[in-house]
Amino acid sequence: MTARVLVVDDVDLNVKLLEAKLTSEYFEVLTANNGPSALTVADTELPDIILLDVMMPRMDGFEVCRRLKENERTVDIPVVMVTALSDAADRLRGLEAGADDFLTKPVNDIALFARVRSLVRLKRMMDELRLREEVCGRFSASEDGDPTTDEVTAARILLIEEQGFAASRIIDTLAPVAAMVRRAASCNEAQDMLDDTIELVIASLSMSDSDPLRLVAQWRANENSRRLPILLIADDSDLPRLAKGLDLGADDYLVRPIDRNELLARVRTQIRRRRLQERLRQNYRRSLSLALTDELTGLYNRRYVFAHMNELIARAAESSGFAVAIFDIDHFKQVNDRYGHPAGDDVLRELAARAERQVRSVDLVGRMGGEEFVVVMPETSLPNAMAVAERLRAAVADEAFLVAESGQKLPVTVSIGVAIMDQQQDTIDSVLKRADDALYAAKNGGRNQVITLPVAQGFIEPLP
Ligand code: GH3
Ligand code: MG
Ligand code: MG
Repeated sequence: MTARVLVVDDVDLNVKLLEAKLTSEYFEVLTANNGPSALTVADTELPDIILLDVMMPRMDGFEVCRRLKENERTVDIPVVMVTALSDAADRLRGLEAGADDFLTKPVNDIALFARVRSLVRLKRMMDELRLREEVCGRFSASEDGDPTTDEVTAARILLIEEQGFAASRIIDTLAPVAAMVRRAASCNEAQDMLDDTIELVIASLSMSDSDPLRLVAQWRANENSRRLPILLIADDSDLPRLAKGLDLGADDYLVRPIDRNELLARVRTQIRRRRLQERLRQNYRRSLSLALTDELTGLYNRRYVFAHMNELIARAAESSGFAVAIFDIDHFKQVNDRYGHPAGDDVLRELAARAERQVRSVDLVGRMGGEEFVVVMPETSLPNAMAVAERLRAAVADEAFLVAESGQKLPVTVSIGVAIMDQQQDTIDSVLKRADDALYAAKNGGRNQVITLPVAQGFIEPLP
């Protein structure tokens, strides 16, 4: 992962040091030597993350941070306070100023890269979420709040900690953010306690029954837990294993003795990221299904049907093309007129369900609009396509349709036009046109029937 990092420090040597470390890991580095110039660079360059020295003359880091968080353009940029004092009061002041994380000087590499990566990932997700919500025009209308700024509460956490005393201290600390902390006293127990309601795992590296890094590796390999945030807790002596854990995919860590504010800040960051991520995934799925399916029947819509046929044509070199059957309800207007529009909707839904039952799993049923549907049948000969269409016609005509509200049973029939894609001459439009002409012939021929037209008789499109 590469990212643009703004390093702010009044001591040139400190800037150079961080710059060298970050550049060696392929981060792009911007620098500033004082608060005002940091604000200018942040506003014009919009870096992905800012490493901010606390002690600077004229304007200190807290003030810079506060101003960054007041500016709409820079409010989402994560700020890491870099402090010489490992003073808890300083950290608290940083948090109050809106900082997202801390590093203490001298900055160690594990800490630097773990924090920068974790926060850059969060920022990326936030950008993506904002972008998509803006594209959908739903950002302001969104009813479920704004997870990018929402306070983190009601988190569900799994804590893996052998020592009872340490565990209860952590649980106490988590009280402001957690609705539930499930505690596992062994790795074995942790396996059983993990389910999809868990939003974050906090795992101590010193467990005696087995190596918690094994769990990290397993969880990362498993589709269901791949995105689960994992925060490691290490002793000073654990640092090499900690590096291994971060390599395996753990998201962040803390070193004992645990600073409560730091724990809370890290937990908040991880939970926020998790929630953003889940929300993005949901939005993505929702917009995919809205864009490609028909709400009333759940069938694929016209747009998807076209995309699907294009795909089949692209593959046609290795296959034998496809057949289409277009079907349309006979005198459907009368159903609406006599029984009401909701009854008509019931008929459409039931028709969709019956059609899906009559086709193979490789066949695709779509709603082209109104009461017109299509079945696309890959690698299907004309006699086979006619047989499927006939089976479908009979499945509709042979059993009356139930109207849910009134319990009435209505006789329904469909007319069907069938056409085979001719690889030499056809386009999607021309094969659909031929099926449509056949459908028209079926309507004219008395409805409730299946018709196909020979290619020569099909309508010939004028050349463009
Ligand atoms: P034909 O046998 O020639 O196809 O006659 P028809 O009455 O089925 O055809 P026409 O095209 O005249 O009428 C189609 C009707 O389908 C009119 C429209 O109100 C109705 N319709 C289209 N979409 C929906 C829908 O989503 N729900 C309901 N209930 N009716 C719909
Ligand atoms: Mg009709
Ligand atoms: Mg019609």
